[in-house]
Amino acid sequence: MGQARILVVEDEVIVARTIASQLSQLGYVVTGTASSGKVAIAKALETQPELVLMDIILKGEMDGIATASQIREQLDVPVIYLTAYGDDHTLERAKITQPFGYIVKPFTTKDLKIAIEIGLLKHQLERELRENRDQLATLLNSMSDAVIAANEQGKVTFMNPAAEALTGWQEKDALGNEAAKIFHIVDEVTDTTLENPVTKVLREQQVVYLGEFTSLITKNGKRVPIGDSASPLKRGSDQINGVVVVFWDLSERRQTKLLEQALEKEQELNRLKSLFISTVSHEFRNPLTVVQTAVELMEMQGVNLTDTKRGIYLKRIQGAVQSMEKLMEEVLFMGRAEAEKLIFNPVTLNLEQFCRELIEDFSIIKSSVCEIIFTCHSENTSAVMDEGLLHYLFGNLLSNAVKYSPTGGKIQFDLICDPIEKVANFYIQDRGIGIPEPDQARLFESFYRASNVQSIKGTGLGLVIVKRCVDAHRGQINVTSQVGVGTTFTIILPLNSELSLTEVSNTNLKKECDK
Ligand code: ATP
Ligand code: MG
Repeated sequence: MGQARILVVEDEVIVARTIASQLSQLGYVVTGTASSGKVAIAKALETQPELVLMDIILKGEMDGIATASQIREQLDVPVIYLTAYGDDHTLERAKITQPFGYIVKPFTTKDLKIAIEIGLLKHQLERELRENRDQLATLLNSMSDAVIAANEQGKVTFMNPAAEALTGWQEKDALGNEAAKIFHIVDEVTDTTLENPVTKVLREQQVVYLGEFTSLITKNGKRVPIGDSASPLKRGSDQINGVVVVFWDLSERRQTKLLEQALEKEQELNRLKSLFISTVSHEFRNPLTVVQTAVELMEMQGVNLTDTKRGIYLKRIQGAVQSMEKLMEEVLFMGRAEAEKLIFNPVTLNLEQFCRELIEDFSIIKSSVCEIIFTCHSENTSAVMDEGLLHYLFGNLLSNAVKYSPTGGKIQFDLICDPIEKVANFYIQDRGIGIPEPDQARLFESFYRASNVQSIKGTGLGLVIVKRCVDAHRGQINVTSQVGVGTTFTIILPLNSELSLTEVSNTNLKKECDK
């Protein structure tokens, strides 16, 4: 700094010369001397000094203060005033020009050096500060994240353009308002207003983050999903004098996530559809092959076909056609259920009578190899349920119990109506092959068959249909099973399905209204 270039403005020629020589002795470069304000301004512009030593009292139209203020308007150069005395008014005026120091006459060379060095340093620090501030302002103005600053009273002191765009508030209107008003946030799940992060930071004195599902309510009431963090602004090591909130729009990210989820769901549906089609066509191929082979054998044998053989072949064909019919019916049922076109038509019926008739029909059709023992434990078994769906439900469960039990096995079918809980409990218990533990959780998936039934015919659709029927009644189904011991299916259905349906839709309606 010893090489600094200095302009001396002093109307006393002798004093000016003395100062110039002192400056030279100190190693500074004197760019010129001026004895009037006008000359000083011209020389300052011409020689571009790094500092101006300015006498406050100058002869002529302009005094030192007026001259300094004009020089400062045009050049970023620090001014140090030289003064023999200073009345309060003069000093007040001088202050407006933001001087970098005063030297009171008479002064020593040392005084001069100290004042100049401090002035130059102050000027350099000020310039650096200004540059930092400019950089910060550029950064805040150009960043895509929104920034709001608030003071220790929680009032807004700053907003960058991104914050203006996101909140819908202009900085000039927002300044001085409560941060909670400008940065109004709600929990998307509960739809309640959240504590403002500014208040939270001021209380907790540490950085806070928003919860996952947070939305900003903009000035015009629009909701924008956002993410944010709020940090304390500290003056000293622990004194908080404000809060800065940084937040960003999550709409796009949320949208992308939703699209990804939709795509995944679509892909999964496609996969299931392909699996469904391939499994169904495979299941049709087996009985078709049986029919084809039986017909070919009958043709080949022509007149030699005995009555016994014809009977065998016809029985095979009949069995194959029946299994195709069953499969067709299951696929149609699934299709209706998937398209949400399952017709639910509850009627008043007597459950005991229904169960007995079902077992009778079932035993005739299946010419059952197992004994089905039905016990009704209740006197009043009147209920409102969908008879058609109950047929599917218990038909499939009984068919499984028979299919997966040894010939001559006993199947227990129990009914208990509970008027207090207003439900009917059904238990279907067999002593068949049982279901391995790891398979039990997946029984209600389409085409899923347990690992121990590979040699027994089946498609893996029966329990899916059962589950649909239970769901249509808003009921529950559970299974307990042990390999080699047997299986029990427990079904609980509301006695009045119509009522339970209305209750469900009323609850939904209430939920909607509460919103
Ligand atoms: P179908 O579609 O012809 O009914 P399936 O009987 O194989 O074929 P589901 O009725 O859906 O299919 O049953 C799924 C699987 O659950 C069966 O393959 C079998 O492994 C197991 N399962 C169901 N009920 C019983 C039971 N009572 N005892 C043992 N295993 C059973
Ligand atoms: Mg089955």
